[in-house]
Amino acid sequence: MILGLKHIPSVIDGTETDPAVGDWIDVYEPATGQVYAKVASSNRGDVDRAVEAAQRAFPDWAGMSADDRGKVLERVADRIEARFDEFVKAESKDSGKPVSVARQVDIPRAMANLRFFAGAVRHWHSDAHDMGASALNYTLKRPRGVAGCISPWNLPLYLLTWKIAPALATGNTVVAKPSEVTPMTASLLAEAWREADAPRGVLSIVHGEGKTAGAAIVQHPGVSAVSFTGSTGVGEWIGAECGRALKPVSLELGGKNPFIVFADADIDSAIDTAERAAFSNQGQICLCGSRLLVERSAFETVVEGLVERARNRVIGDPMDPDTQHGAQVSADHLAKIAGYVNMARDLGANIRCGGNSPAISGRCAGGYFYEPTVITGLENDCAVIQEEIFGPVVTVQPFDSESEAVELANSTPYGLAASVFTSNLGRAHRVSAALESGIVWVNCWMLRDLRTPFGGMKQSGVGREGGAEALRFFTETKNVCIATEGAEGQRGKGAEGKA
Ligand code: NAD
Repeated sequence: MILGLKHIPSVIDGTETDPAVGDWIDVYEPATGQVYAKVASSNRGDVDRAVEAAQRAFPDWAGMSADDRGKVLERVADRIEARFDEFVKAESKDSGKPVSVARQVDIPRAMANLRFFAGAVRHWHSDAHDMGASALNYTLKRPRGVAGCISPWNLPLYLLTWKIAPALATGNTVVAKPSEVTPMTASLLAEAWREADAPRGVLSIVHGEGKTAGAAIVQHPGVSAVSFTGSTGVGEWIGAECGRALKPVSLELGGKNPFIVFADADIDSAIDTAERAAFSNQGQICLCGSRLLVERSAFETVVEGLVERARNRVIGDPMDPDTQHGAQVSADHLAKIAGYVNMARDLGANIRCGGNSPAISGRCAGGYFYEPTVITGLENDCAVIQEEIFGPVVTVQPFDSESEAVELANSTPYGLAASVFTSNLGRAHRVSAALESGIVWVNCWMLRDLRTPFGGMKQSGVGREGGAEALRFFTETKNVCIATEGAEGQRGKGAEGKA
């Protein structure tokens, strides 16, 4: 227990648990650059205890009806709703995102995740394959056991609940590790879980660093499946560890998403959407459209429109309801973003707007702010265009033909999301089909239906989340084949050969 600063313990088996070896990690408020809390740096022993609790809780939880599990998740969502403002402020303070974004996006979506999967599992069904006179096959879907869920800092509660809700709804118990950079709302979630009278041990929140607590979850033999959202580098390591243990793994990783504007599009709508795609959450969304590709005849119109909108974004204290653009998540991350923009400068690029940390007065003077930045004039193969920056930085490149647009769009190692703006229906279909991307939005961006498959190709991930895809990931499939009366007599007629 640290006197003077709020301390955020892990919650293991329903009990607030200080780290086994007494280590705590500083938690910063990005808007001020000040440490405002300490979070538990849990170790392998803490993870062992959480996994043991999850194993003990598994039989009862898995044995409950889907409807009863759904009711528990709905009660947890209700508890978040009852403390909505507290969750909103905590998310904003922890991450630097504008309070308006936490209010409109993060916390409503966290509640929606819990409620959606509570409903989805009730409506889920399994298959039957009828072999006529010889046999009937039916498919059982069973929870895998203890699921390890590891999430990043950019949408803290939103992405944590996106994982744990389908895992829990399908009857798994969960050991979750939120990002150590933004632990606060996960801690409030543990309180909501307790207030909802949800069974202890079914969900443990283990705080700590990736290389200790996170790695211990991935490597624990009692963890039957791992669902990870985060950077591609960490995802590669987790994928390799799970591969060695033959453990199912879902990896949602980085992106460098193309946003393609054809000259036949509604250009105003394209620019409005490009602004949101580039700068929402200070550019810290894996789905952000950070590579704007514009047909040459519309290039200057789009660049000028985007620059004007970027300059008009209201930057400042995330707690101010009028702020549109808050702080980047950390000093290190701010330095990384500035480093890429400096690289662009060194390459002779044209920084059309932004490119600096703005001067903010008052309580946020020491915060990690960076201006919305629009860059033109870069070659496609440079690091600024090929690598994920994860900040409010968008590059704009011209193209001359549909095939060139597709070629540029597909030219990075990533393949998470893409947007296409056009009024030509045939082109919308052709380009959507040709893009190497798990998600394509036509004339929109980040329009989400929780039933749809979500995930990336290439270096953006392995597997899909969302809807039935998530329910499938968290369950083992078992086929049961029952010979019907007289099946023995079918043998000689080759019934078994149908397999
Ligand atoms: P990160 O990979 O550094 O960390 C993500 C989580 O993994 C954190 O909880 C961290 O503590 C943990 N971790 C780190 N090393 C680990 C290890 N060796 N073993 C187990 N866990 C470990 O990512 P980040 O910086 O928190 O998040 C930003 C990244 O996440 C960006 O690359 C972004 O594109 C990506 N992201 C992807 C999606 C998606 O759906 N594809 C969504 C959001 C963010």
